Amino acid sequence: MTFSQSVKSEILRSVRNAKHCCAIAFLQAVLKAVGSLTLERYGYCFSVESDNVDFLTHISNIAQEHLQVKSHISSYNMSAKGTAVYSCRFESALGERLGLLIRDKDGALGFAEASTLIPTEACCRKAFMQGLFVACGSVVIPQTEDVADFVGSAKYHLELRFADSEFARAVSSVYSAAEFHETARKNHIVLYLKDSERIADFLVYVNATAAKLYLENVIVARSVRNNVNRQSNCEVANIEKTVAASGRQLDSISYLRAQGLFDSLPESLKEIALLREEDPEATLEEIANRLHISKSGANHRFSKLMEIANKQRKKQ
Ligand SMILES: [Zn+2]
Repeated sequence: MTFSQSVKSEILRSVRNAKHCCAIAFLQAVLKAVGSLTLERYGYCFSVESDNVDFLTHISNIAQEHLQVKSHISSYNMSAKGTAVYSCRFESALGERLGLLIRDKDGALGFAEASTLIPTEACCRKAFMQGLFVACGSVVIPQTEDVADFVGSAKYHLELRFADSEFARAVSSVYSAAEFHETARKNHIVLYLKDSERIADFLVYVNATAAKLYLENVIVARSVRNNVNRQSNCEVANIEKTVAASGRQLDSISYLRAQGLFDSLPESLKEIALLREEDPEATLEEIANRLHISKSGANHRFSKLMEIANKQRKKQ
């Protein structure tokens, strides 16, 4: 089960015994977002297609229990991915009962304005968003086992996909606290979140608390992993610095030997030069310890060695 699917099934569990007002709001959101309207013998019928039978069963039950509108779920087709797609077809009365279709004074049916559909009551407003996410939402986060692959490249993405741009903008403005970004993709308007904290807030809002805890674990695992990486990057940089310094010191020492100047060096410099020749990979600290002197003392001796070598080079 993908993370998206588990969020959706958690939402569906949480809305199973919703109040009448909220159940209606959930169904309105679903039909407005993904319902398609077809003209049939008895009038305009709404239908919803999905590969999620639990979801279709849920909206079918809402229509039956709260509006006494019958519906029929049938196996519809195979999607491009080879998964079965189901269709839930509602009796024609549903559109008007839900206020999605409005009859004008001449009896002609038209669509209700998008912005008027979004509920004002907090409970229903939440239910409406739950319906939207299950109908047209998706969310991707790095999986804990993939954590290493995603270090540094954030891959948190939650989106709601709308065919109706007017409706998408109404949702974005009513749910401004979610701080959706907007983009156009093919024939759709997409409202999306990229920030892991914003996604966590959204999951809490739609009652997907188990999913939110899972997300938090991923965030923690990633930050631990990032720290470990940062630390080891730091160690690598230090090793590189040691190797580069050691190379410069060895250059000077071999130059002084070649010039026949090594034996005339002060004892303290000869001593440290011999240690460096014995162990090119030793850190400054390790060499200082072997000589029972301070790191800055060892550094000073190496500087002196290189200074003598440089002076000699300039003379030539
Ligand atoms: Zn309500």
